[in-house]
Amino acid sequence: MPTDHQLSPAPTPEAEPAAVRRTGHQTWCPSAGPERPESVVLGVQSPESGQVVYLAEPIPAAQAAAMVPEGIDPRRILRFAAHCDQRCPNNSAGDCTLVNRLQAVPVRQVHAHQIPRCHLRQDCQWWTQVGVEACRRCPALVTVRTAGDEFGDLVADPATTRADLAAWITANPAAEAPSGS
Ligand code: SF4
Repeated sequence: MPTDHQLSPAPTPEAEPAAVRRTGHQTWCPSAGPERPESVVLGVQSPESGQVVYLAEPIPAAQAAAMVPEGIDPRRILRFAAHCDQRCPNNSAGDCTLVNRLQAVPVRQVHAHQIPRCHLRQDCQWWTQVGVEACRRCPALVTVRTAGDEFGDLVADPATTRADLAAWITANPAAEAPSGS
């Protein structure tokens, strides 16, 4: 039987992060910004392949962002992770709708049987939610999209359905599908 000093008021649904309600612990978003106090670097965007190269260990986002030349958005070079936040437009009752949409994106051959080694996995919202199907698509995701990235814009839009994405892919068979958050 707990004593009084071990008890604390139960959080209201509004105050408790949705990801905590779903999994019992705070999950992390693998496509966040560097501005949050807990933000860390997930990986580096390779200029050659356009894919993320994942760090073996997280490093604080502020430390890495400070090394990015002025005038360049750090999210163009680095991928950041931070707490999954119920205020995010992609959050729906604790689920990330972005990773649900991402599952419509074709997987690159190299990731059909291999997934990245990733320091975030045990806390990753996407892994928690859809498992390996997220990791197969995660390296291709860019947080900041370039102008004219029609498919990336569609993926990023919370109003887009997987049927919309499937229709775009069917209508654009020659396009290499990029993806954005
Ligand atoms: S989706 Fe997979 S590869 Fe991407 S951050 Fe989460 S666990 Fe790592």
